[in-house]
Amino acid sequence: MDIPMVQTDNPHSTRHPRRCTAHSTRTKQLCGRWAMKGQRVCMKHGGKAPAALAKAEEAVQLAELKLRGLAPIAVQELENLVTHAESEPVRLAAARDLADRSIGKAVEKIQVAAQVAVVKPW
Ligand SMILES: [Zn+2]
Repeated sequence: MDIPMVQTDNPHSTRHPRRCTAHSTRTKQLCGRWAMKGQRVCMKHGGKAPAALAKAEEAVQLAELKLRGLAPIAVQELENLVTHAESEPVRLAAARDLADRSIGKAVEKIQVAAQVAVVKPW
C-alpha cells in the first residue's frame, strides 16, 4: 500500500495533498481539515476509526522501515564523496555531514547582550 505524496488524480490541483479528501454531507464541499497522519481523511471523516488507525500505523511503520533501509546507502554515498569527490568543498561538506551524524555537531555558543528597560506605569 503506497500513499502518494501528491494526489495524482488532478495534477493541476492546487489543493494541499495532506488535506482531507472527504466531502461534507451537508454542503457537498471538500472538507478543509488536515488529514490524519498516514491517512487521506480527517478525524471527522473516519480517520479515528480503529481500522483506519491500524492501517495508518502500518503505513507509517512501513515508511520508517524504508527510510532505515536507505540510511546505509546514504552513508555509503557520503563515504564515496569523502574519498573520491574531485571538488574540495564537496569532500569537506560530505566529511562534515558524516562527522555531524556520527560524532555529533559541534556545540554552538551564542552570546546575547540585551538590555531591557522597564518603565513602571504605576
Ligand atoms: Zn474531513
